[in-house]
Amino acid sequence: MSAEPILAVDNLEQRFKTPGGLVYAVNGVTFQVAAGESVGLVGESGSGKSTIAKSIVRLGEPTGGSIVYRGQDITHLGDNQMRSLRSKLQMVFQDPTLSLNPRLSVRQTLSEPLRLHKIANGKADLDAHLNRLMDLVNLERNLLDRRPGQLSGGQRQRVGIARAIATEPDFIVLDEPTSSLDMSIRISIIELLRNLQQEMGLAYLFISHDLSTVRYLCSRVIVLYLGTIVEEGTVEEIFSAPKHPYTQALLSAVPIPDPALRSSRNRIVLPGETPHLTHPIVGCPLADRCPYVEPSHREGRIPMVSVGPGDHRVACLLYQDGSGAGATAPDASEAA
Ligand code: ADP
Ligand code: MG
Repeated sequence: MSAEPILAVDNLEQRFKTPGGLVYAVNGVTFQVAAGESVGLVGESGSGKSTIAKSIVRLGEPTGGSIVYRGQDITHLGDNQMRSLRSKLQMVFQDPTLSLNPRLSVRQTLSEPLRLHKIANGKADLDAHLNRLMDLVNLERNLLDRRPGQLSGGQRQRVGIARAIATEPDFIVLDEPTSSLDMSIRISIIELLRNLQQEMGLAYLFISHDLSTVRYLCSRVIVLYLGTIVEEGTVEEIFSAPKHPYTQALLSAVPIPDPALRSSRNRIVLPGETPHLTHPIVGCPLADRCPYVEPSHREGRIPMVSVGPGDHRVACLLYQDGSGAGATAPDASEAA
Protein backbone atom coordinates (compact mmCIF):
# COMPACT_ATOMS: atom_id res chain seq x y z
CA MET A 1 0.00 0.00 0.00
CA SER A 2 1.23 3.49 -0.81
CA ALA A 3 2.15 5.88 2.00
CA GLU A 4 -0.98 8.02 1.85
CA PRO A 5 -4.24 6.08 1.76
CA ILE A 6 -7.09 7.60 -0.21
CA LEU A 7 -9.46 6.45 2.52
CA ALA A 8 -8.72 5.75 6.16
CA VAL A 9 -11.46 4.34 8.38
CA ASP A 10 -10.50 4.38 12.03
CA ASN A 11 -12.30 2.60 14.85
CA LEU A 12 -15.66 3.07 13.13
CA GLU A 13 -18.65 2.35 15.31
CA GLN A 14 -22.37 2.34 14.55
CA ARG A 15 -25.08 1.67 17.04
CA PHE A 16 -28.75 1.86 16.13
CA LYS A 17 -31.49 2.65 18.59
CA THR A 18 -34.36 0.25 17.95
CA PRO A 19 -37.55 -0.50 19.90
CA GLY A 20 -35.84 -3.71 21.04
CA GLY A 21 -32.81 -1.81 22.37
CA LEU A 22 -29.43 -0.88 20.92
CA VAL A 23 -28.12 -2.81 17.92
CA TYR A 24 -24.32 -2.94 17.72
CA ALA A 25 -23.94 -2.97 13.93
CA VAL A 26 -20.31 -1.84 13.56
CA ASN A 27 -17.84 -2.29 16.39
CA GLY A 28 -14.46 -0.63 15.94
CA VAL A 29 -13.62 -1.16 12.29
CA THR A 30 -10.24 0.12 11.07
CA PHE A 31 -8.87 -0.17 7.54
CA GLN A 32 -7.31 1.81 4.70
CA VAL A 33 -7.68 1.84 0.96
CA ALA A 34 -4.87 3.07 -1.28
CA ALA A 35 -5.45 5.06 -4.47
CA GLY A 36 -6.37 2.74 -7.34
CA GLU A 37 -6.72 -0.24 -5.03
CA SER A 38 -9.64 -2.66 -5.07
CA VAL A 39 -10.53 -3.93 -1.61
CA GLY A 40 -13.17 -6.58 -0.99
CA LEU A 41 -15.36 -6.38 2.11
CA VAL A 42 -16.94 -9.75 2.82
CA GLY A 43 -19.12 -11.18 5.53
CA GLU A 44 -22.54 -12.71 5.86
CA SER A 45 -25.79 -10.79 5.82
CA GLY A 46 -26.11 -8.51 8.85
CA SER A 47 -22.36 -8.25 9.48
CA GLY A 48 -22.40 -4.47 8.97
CA LYS A 49 -21.20 -4.13 5.38
CA SER A 50 -23.88 -1.73 4.16
CA THR A 51 -23.67 0.31 7.34
CA ILE A 52 -19.94 0.83 6.75
CA ALA A 53 -20.60 1.69 3.09
CA LYS A 54 -23.21 4.30 3.99
CA SER A 55 -20.95 5.90 6.58
CA ILE A 56 -18.18 6.29 4.02
CA VAL A 57 -20.36 8.14 1.49
CA ARG A 58 -22.12 9.94 4.32
CA LEU A 59 -25.55 8.45 3.79
CA GLY A 60 -25.33 7.61 7.45
CA GLU A 61 -23.46 9.16 10.33
CA PRO A 62 -21.38 6.85 12.51
CA THR A 63 -21.76 6.97 16.29
CA GLY A 64 -18.01 6.65 16.76
CA GLY A 65 -14.65 6.64 15.03
CA SER A 66 -13.55 8.57 11.97
CA ILE A 67 -13.45 8.50 8.19
CA VAL A 68 -10.65 10.40 6.50
CA TYR A 69 -10.72 10.91 2.74
CA ARG A 70 -7.50 12.20 1.19
CA GLY A 71 -6.39 13.61 4.51
CA GLN A 72 -9.69 15.34 5.28
CA ASP A 73 -11.87 14.18 8.16
CA ILE A 74 -15.33 13.75 6.62
CA THR A 75 -16.94 11.89 9.51
CA HIS A 76 -19.37 14.62 10.46
CA LEU A 77 -19.44 16.84 7.37
CA GLY A 78 -22.78 18.48 6.63
CA ASP A 79 -24.55 18.09 3.30
CA ASN A 80 -23.21 21.36 1.91
CA GLN A 81 -19.61 20.56 2.75
CA MET A 82 -20.08 17.04 1.45
CA ARG A 83 -21.47 18.16 -1.91
CA SER A 84 -18.15 18.89 -3.60
CA LEU A 85 -16.64 15.69 -2.23
CA ARG A 86 -19.57 13.62 -3.50
CA SER A 87 -18.22 13.91 -7.02
CA LYS A 88 -15.03 12.12 -5.95
CA LEU A 89 -16.56 9.60 -3.56
CA GLN A 90 -19.34 7.63 -5.20
CA MET A 91 -21.49 4.62 -4.52
CA VAL A 92 -23.16 1.94 -6.60
CA PHE A 93 -26.13 0.34 -4.88
CA GLN A 94 -27.31 -3.22 -4.68
CA ASP A 95 -30.59 -2.76 -6.49
CA PRO A 96 -30.68 -0.30 -9.40
CA THR A 97 -34.46 -0.55 -9.48
CA LEU A 98 -34.53 1.16 -6.09
CA SER A 99 -31.60 3.53 -6.59
CA LEU A 100 -32.71 5.00 -9.94
CA ASN A 101 -35.61 7.42 -10.14
CA PRO A 102 -38.25 5.59 -12.23
CA ARG A 103 -39.61 8.85 -13.62
CA LEU A 104 -36.31 10.06 -15.06
CA SER A 105 -34.90 9.01 -18.40
CA VAL A 106 -31.32 7.76 -18.51
CA ARG A 107 -30.41 11.11 -20.05
CA GLN A 108 -31.92 13.01 -17.13
CA THR A 109 -30.36 10.69 -14.55
CA LEU A 110 -26.88 11.09 -16.00
CA SER A 111 -27.21 14.81 -16.81
CA GLU A 112 -27.95 15.71 -13.21
CA PRO A 113 -24.49 15.04 -11.74
CA LEU A 114 -22.78 16.39 -14.88
CA ARG A 115 -24.59 19.72 -14.44
CA LEU A 116 -24.46 19.83 -10.65
CA HIS A 117 -20.71 19.39 -10.57
CA LYS A 118 -20.23 21.63 -13.64
CA ILE A 119 -18.51 18.88 -15.58
CA ALA A 120 -20.53 19.57 -18.72
CA ASN A 121 -21.07 23.12 -20.01
CA GLY A 122 -23.67 23.71 -22.69
CA LYS A 123 -25.78 21.28 -24.70
CA ALA A 124 -23.10 20.05 -27.09
CA ASP A 125 -20.68 19.35 -24.26
CA LEU A 126 -23.40 17.62 -22.25
CA ASP A 127 -24.28 15.38 -25.21
CA ALA A 128 -20.64 14.51 -25.71
CA HIS A 129 -20.32 13.55 -22.04
CA LEU A 130 -23.51 11.48 -22.14
CA ASN A 131 -22.39 9.60 -25.23
CA ARG A 132 -19.00 8.93 -23.73
CA LEU A 133 -20.58 7.62 -20.52
CA MET A 134 -22.87 5.29 -22.46
CA ASP A 135 -19.87 3.99 -24.39
CA LEU A 136 -17.87 3.47 -21.20
CA VAL A 137 -20.55 1.22 -19.69
CA ASN A 138 -21.33 -0.51 -23.01
CA LEU A 139 -24.86 0.77 -23.40
CA GLU A 140 -26.35 1.71 -26.77
CA ARG A 141 -26.67 5.48 -27.01
CA ASN A 142 -30.28 5.15 -28.13
CA LEU A 143 -31.17 3.95 -24.63
CA LEU A 144 -30.58 7.49 -23.31
CA ASP A 145 -34.24 8.36 -23.71
CA ARG A 146 -35.58 5.30 -21.94
CA ARG A 147 -36.71 5.17 -18.37
CA PRO A 148 -35.51 2.49 -15.92
CA GLY A 149 -38.73 0.52 -16.38
CA GLN A 150 -37.91 0.10 -20.07
CA LEU A 151 -34.48 -1.41 -19.37
CA SER A 152 -33.31 -4.86 -18.30
CA GLY A 153 -31.81 -5.38 -14.84
CA GLY A 154 -28.30 -5.50 -16.25
CA GLN A 155 -28.86 -2.32 -18.28
CA ARG A 156 -30.22 -0.58 -15.20
CA GLN A 157 -27.13 -1.44 -13.20
CA ARG A 158 -24.97 -0.15 -16.06
CA VAL A 159 -26.84 3.14 -15.71
CA GLY A 160 -26.15 3.04 -11.96
CA ILE A 161 -22.47 2.58 -12.71
CA ALA A 162 -22.52 5.33 -15.36
CA ARG A 163 -24.04 7.70 -12.82
CA ALA A 164 -21.31 6.83 -10.33
CA ILE A 165 -18.46 7.45 -12.78
CA ALA A 166 -20.05 10.54 -14.40
CA THR A 167 -18.31 12.89 -11.98
CA GLU A 168 -14.89 11.28 -12.49
CA PRO A 169 -14.56 9.93 -8.96
CA ASP A 170 -11.44 8.31 -7.58
CA PHE A 171 -13.21 6.11 -5.05
CA ILE A 172 -16.38 4.04 -5.45
CA VAL A 173 -18.14 1.98 -2.84
CA LEU A 174 -19.97 -0.90 -4.52
CA ASP A 175 -22.53 -2.51 -2.25
CA GLU A 176 -23.31 -5.95 -3.69
CA PRO A 177 -23.73 -4.44 -7.17
CA THR A 178 -24.57 -7.74 -8.86
CA SER A 179 -26.62 -9.54 -6.24
CA SER A 180 -29.95 -8.50 -7.78
CA LEU A 181 -28.90 -9.76 -11.22
CA ASP A 182 -28.99 -13.11 -13.02
CA MET A 183 -25.77 -15.12 -13.01
CA SER A 184 -25.12 -14.62 -16.75
CA ILE A 185 -25.41 -10.86 -16.39
CA ARG A 186 -23.32 -10.72 -13.23
CA ILE A 187 -20.20 -11.80 -15.06
CA SER A 188 -20.45 -9.05 -17.66
CA ILE A 189 -21.02 -6.41 -14.97
CA ILE A 190 -18.00 -7.60 -12.99
CA GLU A 191 -15.97 -7.53 -16.21
CA LEU A 192 -17.13 -3.95 -16.78
CA LEU A 193 -16.19 -2.92 -13.24
CA ARG A 194 -12.76 -4.42 -13.67
CA ASN A 195 -12.16 -2.62 -16.95
CA LEU A 196 -13.35 0.70 -15.54
CA GLN A 197 -11.12 0.31 -12.52
CA GLN A 198 -8.10 -0.22 -14.69
CA GLU A 199 -8.94 2.47 -17.25
CA MET A 200 -9.89 5.16 -14.74
CA GLY A 201 -7.51 4.22 -11.93
CA LEU A 202 -10.44 3.90 -9.52
CA ALA A 203 -10.21 2.66 -5.97
CA TYR A 204 -13.03 0.31 -5.00
CA LEU A 205 -14.49 -0.88 -1.76
CA PHE A 206 -16.28 -3.87 -3.21
CA ILE A 207 -18.88 -5.40 -0.91
CA SER A 208 -20.03 -8.89 -1.71
CA HIS A 209 -20.81 -12.23 -0.27
CA ASP A 210 -19.82 -13.82 -3.55
CA LEU A 211 -16.25 -14.75 -2.74
CA SER A 212 -15.27 -15.88 -6.23
CA THR A 213 -16.12 -12.42 -7.53
CA VAL A 214 -14.03 -10.81 -4.82
CA ARG A 215 -11.17 -13.07 -5.76
CA TYR A 216 -11.44 -11.96 -9.39
CA LEU A 217 -11.92 -8.24 -8.84
CA CYS A 218 -9.99 -7.38 -5.69
CA SER A 219 -6.38 -7.38 -4.60
CA ARG A 220 -7.07 -7.28 -0.87
CA VAL A 221 -9.86 -8.68 1.29
CA ILE A 222 -11.36 -7.67 4.64
CA VAL A 223 -13.47 -10.26 6.45
CA LEU A 224 -16.20 -8.99 8.74
CA TYR A 225 -18.09 -10.85 11.47
CA LEU A 226 -20.62 -9.11 13.74
CA GLY A 227 -19.35 -5.69 12.73
CA THR A 228 -15.71 -6.40 13.51
CA ILE A 229 -12.80 -7.25 11.23
CA VAL A 230 -11.62 -10.79 11.94
CA GLU A 231 -9.05 -11.06 9.15
CA GLU A 232 -7.50 -9.09 6.32
CA GLY A 233 -4.88 -9.79 3.71
CA THR A 234 -4.20 -10.05 0.01
CA VAL A 235 -6.54 -12.16 -2.07
CA GLU A 236 -3.80 -14.82 -2.28
CA GLU A 237 -3.25 -14.86 1.48
CA ILE A 238 -6.93 -15.04 2.37
CA PHE A 239 -7.93 -17.60 -0.25
CA SER A 240 -4.94 -19.91 0.00
CA ALA A 241 -4.20 -19.63 3.73
CA PRO A 242 -7.19 -18.34 5.69
CA LYS A 243 -6.30 -18.14 9.38
CA HIS A 244 -9.38 -17.15 11.32
CA PRO A 245 -11.78 -20.04 12.00
CA TYR A 246 -14.59 -17.83 10.71
CA THR A 247 -12.79 -17.12 7.42
CA GLN A 248 -12.01 -20.80 7.05
CA ALA A 249 -15.67 -21.70 7.45
CA LEU A 250 -16.77 -18.92 5.09
CA LEU A 251 -14.35 -20.06 2.37
CA SER A 252 -15.20 -23.70 2.79
CA ALA A 253 -18.75 -22.87 1.75
CA VAL A 254 -17.75 -21.35 -1.61
CA PRO A 255 -19.29 -23.44 -4.39
CA ILE A 256 -16.74 -25.36 -6.44
CA PRO A 257 -17.97 -26.26 -9.95
CA ASP A 258 -15.62 -29.23 -10.32
CA PRO A 259 -17.18 -32.28 -8.55
CA ALA A 260 -13.79 -33.96 -8.05
CA LEU A 261 -12.37 -30.92 -6.30
CA ARG A 262 -15.59 -30.46 -4.37
CA SER A 263 -15.51 -33.90 -2.84
CA SER A 264 -11.87 -33.53 -1.78
CA ARG A 265 -12.60 -30.49 0.29
CA ASN A 266 -13.46 -30.19 3.94
CA ARG A 267 -16.63 -28.27 4.48
CA ILE A 268 -16.36 -26.47 7.82
CA VAL A 269 -19.68 -25.75 9.45
CA LEU A 270 -19.64 -23.66 12.61
CA PRO A 271 -22.18 -24.68 15.22
CA GLY A 272 -25.03 -22.34 16.05
CA GLU A 273 -26.23 -19.26 14.26
CA THR A 274 -24.96 -15.73 13.92
CA PRO A 275 -26.50 -13.81 16.80
CA HIS A 276 -28.17 -10.43 16.57
CA LEU A 277 -25.88 -8.18 18.56
CA THR A 278 -27.69 -6.30 21.27
CA HIS A 279 -24.72 -5.93 23.60
CA PRO A 280 -21.11 -4.78 23.17
CA ILE A 281 -18.63 -7.43 22.04
CA VAL A 282 -16.38 -8.70 24.81
CA GLY A 283 -13.58 -11.03 23.84
CA CYS A 284 -13.77 -12.88 20.52
CA PRO A 285 -17.03 -12.29 18.63
CA LEU A 286 -16.93 -15.91 17.44
CA ALA A 287 -16.35 -17.39 20.91
CA ASP A 288 -19.77 -19.06 21.18
CA ARG A 289 -19.33 -20.85 17.85
CA CYS A 290 -15.60 -21.49 17.63
CA PRO A 291 -14.32 -25.08 17.97
CA TYR A 292 -11.00 -23.78 19.38
CA VAL A 293 -12.38 -21.44 22.03
CA GLU A 294 -10.68 -21.21 25.42
CA PRO A 295 -11.89 -19.32 28.51
CA SER A 296 -9.31 -16.57 27.98
CA HIS A 297 -10.81 -15.80 24.54
CA ARG A 298 -13.92 -14.41 26.20
CA GLU A 299 -12.18 -11.43 27.76
CA GLY A 300 -11.00 -8.01 26.68
CA ARG A 301 -10.55 -6.90 23.13
CA ILE A 302 -8.90 -9.20 20.61
CA PRO A 303 -6.09 -7.36 18.79
CA MET A 304 -5.20 -7.85 15.14
CA VAL A 305 -1.88 -9.67 14.87
CA SER A 306 0.33 -10.13 11.85
CA VAL A 307 0.38 -13.67 10.46
CA GLY A 308 2.52 -13.26 7.39
CA PRO A 309 5.28 -11.34 5.73
CA GLY A 310 2.85 -8.87 4.16
CA ASP A 311 -0.27 -7.25 5.57
CA HIS A 312 -2.00 -10.51 6.43
CA ARG A 313 -3.54 -9.94 9.85
CA VAL A 314 -5.99 -11.79 12.01
CA ALA A 315 -7.94 -11.05 15.19
CA CYS A 316 -7.59 -14.46 16.80
CA LEU A 317 -5.83 -15.46 20.00
CA LEU A 318 -4.74 -18.76 18.43
CA TYR A 319 -2.08 -16.74 16.61
CA GLN A 320 -1.25 -14.48 19.51
CA ASP A 321 2.25 -15.88 20.10
CA GLY A 322 3.37 -13.92 17.04
CA SER A 323 4.81 -16.95 15.32
CA GLY A 324 2.09 -16.70 12.73
CA ALA A 325 2.22 -20.46 12.56
CA GLY A 326 -1.02 -20.92 14.42
CA ALA A 327 0.06 -24.27 15.80
CA THR A 328 -3.24 -24.83 17.57
CA ALA A 329 -5.35 -23.48 14.74
CA PRO A 330 -6.70 -25.66 12.00
CA ASP A 331 -4.89 -25.99 8.72
CA ALA A 332 -7.55 -25.17 6.20
CA SER A 333 -5.31 -24.85 3.18
CA GLU A 334 -7.35 -27.56 1.48
CA ALA A 335 -10.47 -25.50 2.08
CA ALA A 336 -9.58 -22.79 -0.42
P1 ADP B 1 -25.02 -6.20 5.83
O1 ADP B 1 -24.98 -5.13 4.79
O2 ADP B 1 -23.67 -6.82 6.10
O3 ADP B 1 -26.04 -7.25 5.54
P2 ADP B 1 -26.09 -4.11 7.54
O4 ADP B 1 -25.02 -3.10 7.62
O5 ADP B 1 -27.21 -3.83 6.62
O6 ADP B 1 -25.45 -5.53 7.22
O7 ADP B 1 -26.72 -4.35 8.98
C1 ADP B 1 -25.91 -4.61 10.12
C2 ADP B 1 -26.82 -4.73 11.35
O8 ADP B 1 -27.38 -3.46 11.64
C3 ADP B 1 -27.99 -5.66 11.16
O9 ADP B 1 -28.22 -6.31 12.39
C4 ADP B 1 -29.13 -4.74 10.81
O10 ADP B 1 -30.35 -5.30 11.20
C5 ADP B 1 -28.80 -3.51 11.62
N1 ADP B 1 -29.26 -2.26 11.01
C6 ADP B 1 -28.86 -1.74 9.82
N2 ADP B 1 -29.45 -0.55 9.58
C7 ADP B 1 -30.25 -0.31 10.65
C8 ADP B 1 -31.14 0.76 11.00
N3 ADP B 1 -31.28 1.83 10.22
N4 ADP B 1 -31.79 0.66 12.17
C9 ADP B 1 -31.63 -0.40 12.98
N5 ADP B 1 -30.82 -1.44 12.72
C10 ADP B 1 -30.14 -1.40 11.57
MG1 MG C 1 -25.96 -5.02 2.97
